[in-house]
Amino acid sequence: MVAAKHRRRYLVHLESLGPDAAFAGEVIRDAVRSIRALERDLLGDPLTKANASPVTVADFLVQAFVASRLAQRFPDDPLVGEEDATVLRTEPARKVRRRVVELAGRMLPGGALETEQMLAWIDRGRGACGHRFWTLDPIDGTKGLLRGGQYVIALALLVDGSVQIGVIGCPRLSVRTAPASRADSGEHAMVAAVEGDVEGGVAIGVRGRGAWWLSLHGDHLTRLSVSTEANPAQTCALHSLESRHSDLDELRRVLRELRSDASPILMDGQTKHVLLAAGAAELLMRIPTDPLYREAIWDQAAGALIVEEAGGRVTDLDGLALDFTTGRHLLRNTGIVASNSLLHDAVLDVVRQRSIR
Ligand code: AMP
Ligand code: MG
Repeated sequence: MVAAKHRRRYLVHLESLGPDAAFAGEVIRDAVRSIRALERDLLGDPLTKANASPVTVADFLVQAFVASRLAQRFPDDPLVGEEDATVLRTEPARKVRRRVVELAGRMLPGGALETEQMLAWIDRGRGACGHRFWTLDPIDGTKGLLRGGQYVIALALLVDGSVQIGVIGCPRLSVRTAPASRADSGEHAMVAAVEGDVEGGVAIGVRGRGAWWLSLHGDHLTRLSVSTEANPAQTCALHSLESRHSDLDELRRVLRELRSDASPILMDGQTKHVLLAAGAAELLMRIPTDPLYREAIWDQAAGALIVEEAGGRVTDLDGLALDFTTGRHLLRNTGIVASNSLLHDAVLDVVRQRSIR
């Protein structure tokens, strides 16, 4: 168990988030269910992309699945996905390609698929960042999937540079509600973020309508809200497990400046944003190890909206709002600071004092 805080409990139906968000939530929930059912078939040898990162059967399968479902409902909306079928069309990828076609036949509505149709669904994710588009990371935390850790499926709708809907499917995470121990109120619930052999679920943020947890069964939503901790010395932080993705030593120095001695929770992908939104920690930082690296929109959009709608705040290291108008990457932002809002200025002060870039 990572953490538990007291939260108000609301029972709300998925439909009340509006038709587009309800649809996106259902699609990602279906993807989580399928991936959980197929998990043992998905591992095997990953392929290596041109940027040297690994890509698995699961990445291709989820991108094909989400692309086909979105195309049915929103035929005019472009999809900007992390993956495309380039590597899958090559000769060394023959085995993986066959596996994706076979599993896609089990996962996609309509059953068996021709190879070309499956490759075309994956390549539907090569859409352009227009005035309205979806962005997808089919497996965020591919290395987490491979090592038996956390990974998520992240989908966001952007309209005029603003994230309107963020959905994060979490096959290996549960955010549970339980009656509060305080006898004086039946309204509170304890939200506990639990890792391990758990049910899984989906976090959904909708601009102006809050951030919610949808379990894999039923259509009731439970509100996600950030920690109310205001004392910097009590800051608990989340950080990437991959040392290449962010500077953990620098985060430890920031925590020391804040007088916090809590060890950072290390985790893959936007699972971290969901835990922050659920109040399991107060801070999430991404401190570039490569000054030229720019964050991909599919790694940040859904998580940022869910954290903000849960009452948190998300900026870059300079305190600037994330600018989603610069295409596939956040060209005008450096690093990420996401917090429960109450501790944000204290963190930015330390970043400024230490000249962290
Ligand atoms: P995390 O598990 O939080 O480190 O996030 C995983 C994501 O980090 C992947 O989906 C990649 O898109 C992204 N990533 C890959 N290389 C880098 C890098 N050098 N710096 C920061 N993020 C990266
Ligand atoms: Mg990713």
